[in-house]
Amino acid sequence: MRVDIFTVAKDIFSGAISKGNIKHALKKGLLELDIWDLRDFSTDSHRRVDDYPYGGGAGMILKPEPIFYGVRKVLTPQTRVILLSPQGRIFNQDIAKDLSTLSHLVLICGHYKGIDERVREYLINDEISIGKYVLSGGEIPALVVLDSVVRLIPGVIGDLESAKGDSFFSSSLDAPYYTRPADFEGMKVPDVLLSGNHEAIRKWREKRRRIQYGRDRGL
Ligand code: SAM
Repeated sequence: MRVDIFTVAKDIFSGAISKGNIKHALKKGLLELDIWDLRDFSTDSHRRVDDYPYGGGAGMILKPEPIFYGVRKVLTPQTRVILLSPQGRIFNQDIAKDLSTLSHLVLICGHYKGIDERVREYLINDEISIGKYVLSGGEIPALVVLDSVVRLIPGVIGDLESAKGDSFFSSSLDAPYYTRPADFEGMKVPDVLLSGNHEAIRKWREKRRRIQYGRDRGL
């Protein structure tokens, strides 16, 4: 999979992409990632990427030219061009699964008051929100999307079966887990997990998945 991210705050990404599954995916050649500074596509001699809104009002707006020029540079007929926006469809595991099957994603990170509406009207073909709240920029949402998608690319995590047991992969939540010690200050690990009886453990986990699922829905 190839991912191109367009941002005015490139630095935000450096720590996150140098760790964990994103790092593994890059190392294994399962992910090609480019993070582009929108200022590099500015038509302005001062590399400005924002301007005042027509009609007045508070806040600055990301100009259309840097976004169109940048995205056009990488665009292919297969590209899913995604704007991160609080007004988009709410991101979830099904969307992550769907995106993980695509060959090329472009993630556009908004900033300031927002972006010129022509980007939404003429350039993107998807708009994703990570929740009903407003962040200062699209960089953290882009990382949320990138991380959740990359771990679903076959070969990125050692055991894809483990990801399949995660919450939301199917219509249930994950079971609870414990590790050593079996008794921590009197807080004990359930006996069944120490029993060595794999069938009993499987049944216990199934039951706990159902309980967690019901609890999540207030049942
Ligand atoms: N004025 C915009 C509105 O109310 O819809 C919010 C702009 S926000 C301060 C700046 C940028 O952060 C947005 O353009 C978007 O890229 C990103 N952003 C903020 N909240 C987000 C969310 N919940 N999901 C995805 N992106 C978000």
